[in-house]
Amino acid sequence: MSAIIIDGKAISLKVREEVKQRAGALRPKGIVPCLAVILVGEEPASLSYVSAKEKALGEAGMGSRDFRLAFSTTEAELLSLIKRLNADGKVHGILVQLPLPSHISEERVITAIDPRKDVDGFHPVSVGNMVLGRPGFLPCTPHGVLALLRELRIPTAGAHAVVLGRSNIVGKPLANLLARRDVNATVTICHTGTRDLGAITRQADILIAAAGRAGLVTADMVKEGAAVIDVGVNRVADSTARRGYRLRGDVDYAPVAEKAAWITPVPGGVGPMTIAMLLRNVIESAERFAIEQL
Ligand code: NAD
Repeated sequence: MSAIIIDGKAISLKVREEVKQRAGALRPKGIVPCLAVILVGEEPASLSYVSAKEKALGEAGMGSRDFRLAFSTTEAELLSLIKRLNADGKVHGILVQLPLPSHISEERVITAIDPRKDVDGFHPVSVGNMVLGRPGFLPCTPHGVLALLRELRIPTAGAHAVVLGRSNIVGKPLANLLARRDVNATVTICHTGTRDLGAITRQADILIAAAGRAGLVTADMVKEGAAVIDVGVNRVADSTARRGYRLRGDVDYAPVAEKAAWITPVPGGVGPMTIAMLLRNVIESAERFAIEQL
């Protein structure tokens, strides 16, 4: 078997077009959807994620307010900025790029964001709403993975979905969403404490790798005909590459593509969907603010 390569870029462009139209519909009301983007320090990967998000916002006819703060910024300074942005009626979403420097508590910072502007979906209120199946912002990467499964019409009801990783931003919410009644998968979560990973991944109809380990998933760990979704983005040293590294997923791509029925490439799979889902959360927030203004 040779897998269908899931074109996350193309699918994300459809979402971005939809968002652009919705942003255009708000313009006559004098509303420009706006995301405040806060970056503390100059971590190269974070810088490139933040730039990609801001570029996408601009292309969708939305605004961004860019806060590039020094590494030495204190937690109190960051909390006071967030307080200001919470109260600013022209700001519809607040994104704090993670990771933060170790002298700042991510938990306190995320909790300080008004849940109505928590377009990353990381606030405990957003997480609670997600778990309870109530309306609220869904975290962008897990939501993007679900959107890919839906778009490709990959059967999820009754399927065994195995998620590698239990982080708060990817593994845990993804496992939760996959078990929702409208997705209806049977979910197993694997992590660093899992014994005999391959024995479990080989049972997966849908295998989602979010471990952050380049090439962790080899072909012998994959069931013939599975859908393999690679969330991992790992920088692997490569002296022949222009930047001295190349991006690799958690999946050993070429051999696994021979065995799977669907596979996402890295880059060009889940990554673009994460940004598209962020834009969708921002437009939803702006639309809600517009209704409340009436
Ligand atoms: P994390 O380090 O917080 O969590 C990794 C998880 O994987 C942990 O729960 C750990 O228990 C598990 N794990 C690690 N090694 C394992 C192993 N050998 N066997 C089984 N489980 C193992 O990472 P994260 O923030 O969840 O991100 C995971 C990966 O996804 C990273 O590569 C990250 O760059 C990428 N990511 C991509 C996007 C995107 O938009 N494409 C978004 C977020 C994260």
